[in-house]
Amino acid sequence: MQVNFWIAPTDVNLVPMENARRLVEEYFHNPEDLPDFGCETMRVHVFPRLTYIDGYDGYFPMMTIGCPNCLAAIPTTETWAQELHEHLVDEEELDLDAYRVITPCCSTDVSALQLDFKGYGGFTRFAVELVDVSYEGSDKELLDKAKKILGCDLRKIEIWYT
Ligand SMILES: [Zn+2]
Repeated sequence: MQVNFWIAPTDVNLVPMENARRLVEEYFHNPEDLPDFGCETMRVHVFPRLTYIDGYDGYFPMMTIGCPNCLAAIPTTETWAQELHEHLVDEEELDLDAYRVITPCCSTDVSALQLDFKGYGGFTRFAVELVDVSYEGSDKELLDKAKKILGCDLRKIEIWYT
């Protein structure tokens, strides 16, 4: 099994300044103050527009998507979730800021950005991709280090591969 971490701003449309992006790249090349952290390689992404990070491309048995209205956990094995996923990855010109869906649980019209992919997928304009990570420490510690450099609140998207 391999796991990739994507570190992205909590604010999906936020792109940190160029200087901060360069510093975070330097930092993750050799994070001496993060014991046990290792990764095969890293990439810093700035996307031309809001982009879906496709956690479902990896290994995801029994994952769910959270409904923002009734908080139901919609299994990713459901047709609705699979069609949503196909839509998000296939449609290059999709305007994600304006993209809305009707949830299958409570038939509510919601923005795709409100769906809770539970850290296995998500939307962003900027991300640090850490490939084939080995790390025993806490997410909080990892994100706090990056937050100090990038100057914004961050979340982690985790993608597993077999
Ligand atoms: Zn619902």
